[in-house]
Amino acid sequence: MCGIVAYTGCHEAYPILIKGLKRLEYRGYDSAGVALSQPEGIALYKCRGRVEDLDTLCSSKNCEAHTGIGHTRWATHGEPSTQNAHPHLSEDGKLALIHNGIVENYLVLKKELVSRGYHFQSDTDTEVLVHLIQDTLKNEQVSLPEAVKIALSSVVGTYALAILSADEPDQLILAKKGSPLLIGVGDNEYFIGSDGAPIVEYTKKVVYLEDGDVAVVSPNKKMVVMNINDNRKKRRYLQELEMNLDQLEKGGFEHYMLKEIFEQPKAIRDSMRGRLNVRKDVVSLGGIIEYETKMMNARRFIIVACGTSWHAGTVGEYLFESLVRIPVEVEYASECRYRNPLIYEDDVVIAISQSGETADTIAAVELAKQKGATVIGICNVVGSTLARATHAGSYTHAGPEIGVASTKAFTAQVTVLTLMALCLARRKGTISLSDYHQIINSLEDIPAKVEQVLKLNGQIAEFAKFFVNKTNAIYLGRGINYPVALEGALKLKEISYIHAEGYPSAEMKHGPIALIDEEMPVVVLATEQETYEKTVSNIQEVIARKGKIISIVTKGDKLVKEMSDYCIEIPETLELLTPLISCVPLQLLAYHVAVLRGCNVDKPRNLAKSVSVE
Ligand code: GLU
Repeated sequence: MCGIVAYTGCHEAYPILIKGLKRLEYRGYDSAGVALSQPEGIALYKCRGRVEDLDTLCSSKNCEAHTGIGHTRWATHGEPSTQNAHPHLSEDGKLALIHNGIVENYLVLKKELVSRGYHFQSDTDTEVLVHLIQDTLKNEQVSLPEAVKIALSSVVGTYALAILSADEPDQLILAKKGSPLLIGVGDNEYFIGSDGAPIVEYTKKVVYLEDGDVAVVSPNKKMVVMNINDNRKKRRYLQELEMNLDQLEKGGFEHYMLKEIFEQPKAIRDSMRGRLNVRKDVVSLGGIIEYETKMMNARRFIIVACGTSWHAGTVGEYLFESLVRIPVEVEYASECRYRNPLIYEDDVVIAISQSGETADTIAAVELAKQKGATVIGICNVVGSTLARATHAGSYTHAGPEIGVASTKAFTAQVTVLTLMALCLARRKGTISLSDYHQIINSLEDIPAKVEQVLKLNGQIAEFAKFFVNKTNAIYLGRGINYPVALEGALKLKEISYIHAEGYPSAEMKHGPIALIDEEMPVVVLATEQETYEKTVSNIQEVIARKGKIISIVTKGDKLVKEMSDYCIEIPETLELLTPLISCVPLQLLAYHVAVLRGCNVDKPRNLAKSVSVE
């Protein structure tokens, strides 16, 4: 959350900053601002609203500068407003600072700073940082980088920071703890970003800062990185940024979300590439090879994740328990980290996060490591904190996901979990050879089947009209499709603001059935063969109370189709693999409902991507 961009070099900074902010806007979009180094001092422009509003504001201003910082905000402390927008200035206007994260002890620091005569202009936690640094500069008589280090040693919380100083107009100071920050290294110039999106257009050579790092960059000078934990200079190696510019464009689609839904056949294929070889009869994940034996002998798997990744993890529970025959617990990372969980050395923790920066998931990973467990990561962003914090892991190869509502990341995560379960089951001998062959053959066919579902887009857009004026919806699913029901409901509420809940179908009669009347749409996943009759009964229970049935059935199904007000037929596959297909119509449904309701699909209210704050 919150996007940070900064530039120093021989080019005009403003166009680089504004373009970078547009690319980072999925991380936060309630206000935005830039600070630019100009001969007369720091120029600050900020406003409530989108990056576009900032650009309009700046069009009438002097934005000439070769060094600058920019920020797009997702408010944690203080309402979205111009005052609370970043950058924040020091009392003398000589320092400007942008921040991603949370200063947990900001109230104590603020009290102290106010008593020393500092005046606060905003309600943010961030503003304490800039006053604290200025205060340190004044009292300690040290250089700015030293002052930043000293000041940060009394900060509790998380941060990625970029600081501009009027006294060193072409220098940027950067710091990181708990929130991501990358430095792109160009030709005597530096590009800074919360992720690669604002950098990739200019350079693919990047340095990933590590927790505790404070870096100083100026054009024509070598980057200096120190770490506040041991107060020593650090060598941080250049890495290749794994991202392409065209992946960041909408490619003719009206929204990123729709583009990403349509990219799923490719995302699934890419996540299987080099890992599933049906002809050679092999499923293998390079990233976990060294830990396979540990995983096979695990006493228990604990899957930790948040949001959509948690739903993918719950699909993983069904996959691992049925194929690998080892018990699985799926935990919300935020709950896991604070309840002193029982995690043992022979447990394997699997942490899932699209961005690899989810603060709660990273904290749960650290906790699991402290308890001696083996920790495996599944994430989409190469080089992310999760990738570095875990013992081993597998990337999903979904490509950058920009739409705030996650879609292709979900199917890619489920694909990787399926491959992991298959590879462990095969080695452990908990799957028969014929089942194994059947599953890997069917898995290979999944992308083509998802393509078939995508052809239903027009039909689903029609169904969506039925939902437009609804205020509630229930999603039902059984077995491995129960988490898909949860995910379908989450998609609808995230982007259309219709209240929706997912339940295991049979749970409906233990409460939610009280909500059913002629106004209640009930989306039922009815592809399960083993429990098909039970699902039919659940549907009857809804119809008896005049609820409206929208069903997802296997192609050729007649019974449920006849009972339904609307029916979406999806291609048949093995039960264990259905989530990869059945989630797609639910994503499309949520998308079209949101579009019809005039909602901002890619930037839903109150939400942001890459939840790097608690
Ligand atoms: N805590 C800061 C604010 O509310 C930054 C928020 C964030 O990084 O998401 O302004």
